[in-house]
Amino acid sequence: MVDQLQTLKQEVKALLARTKDKDTLEAIRVKYLGRKGEINKLFKEIVDFSIEEKRRLGYEINQLKNELTHELDARLSIFEQKPEVKFEPLLPGKIAHIGHAHPIAQTFAQIISFFKGYGFTVEKGPEIEYDWYNFEALNIPKDHPARDMFSSFYITEDLLLRSHTSPVQIRVMEKQKPPVKIICPGRCYRYDPFDASHSPVFHQVEVLYVDEGVSFGELKWTLSEFVKFIFGPKTKYVLMPSFFPFTEPSGELAISCTVCSGTGCAVCGNSGWLELLGCGMVHPQVLKNVKISPKKYSGYAIGMGVERVAMVKYVIDDIRAFYNNDMRFLEQF
Ligand SMILES: [Zn+2]
Repeated sequence: MVDQLQTLKQEVKALLARTKDKDTLEAIRVKYLGRKGEINKLFKEIVDFSIEEKRRLGYEINQLKNELTHELDARLSIFEQKPEVKFEPLLPGKIAHIGHAHPIAQTFAQIISFFKGYGFTVEKGPEIEYDWYNFEALNIPKDHPARDMFSSFYITEDLLLRSHTSPVQIRVMEKQKPPVKIICPGRCYRYDPFDASHSPVFHQVEVLYVDEGVSFGELKWTLSEFVKFIFGPKTKYVLMPSFFPFTEPSGELAISCTVCSGTGCAVCGNSGWLELLGCGMVHPQVLKNVKISPKKYSGYAIGMGVERVAMVKYVIDDIRAFYNNDMRFLEQF
């Protein structure tokens, strides 16, 4: 009899484990635990046993009945918990995370949109460049100390990863006679350390306008409009003399600090100004190198680091933040 109870217990438990719906559970309840079910039949089987035996086995059967009832109810509650799927037209839908443009891409887009508005066209050039385009044609001969400003990755003696976007100027002017009105956005490489203000890979936008009678005044006006467009109409700027081999005269533009508005703070080193970009009038030798007469034509060039523009605009003190792919940083833009 005890064996019989064990077998029955295992049988019912196995059935319960396999059930997948309420109806099957109900059928099991009727078959085993119902009034005329298997377990109640067992009580009838022990009617003729001794009182001792009846008491012991009766207790065992009752235990089994309680255990299986409990298990069946537990199983039933699993099915009853399942929510019914209803169509609710007024609930908002689930929106997938689709991301957005990287702050560097956004800054590129803003810079390009400004210059496009003034009739500049976008030109691109190779990232692996000849020494001629990267240096020589830009008035930086092999022995020129200015080459030290560009810590370049050389592939061969004559080939390197371009260290600025200026070579695109030469490539375009070789093919196209003035007026030349272009912007060249792109990636550049220098073997600088990867620290808060340097990255071996970075982005630049080169601006070039060459035509008859292009003056420094035009450069200055373009810069003042550009600064207002990117940083807001109240931004002040200052143009300071500088040196680049491919422009004469050369200048460096700084804008009023985006944190303190020029009164002086830690970000601007208490100067009130933040350096932004380099510019100048295209050097006559550069025009000669591409067979454009410097007597007839003149032009201006602007070169800016896209990371620098974004760092000044959004007050970011570490260039590495752009490349670390930290969503907490990127989601702010
Ligand atoms: Zn400041």
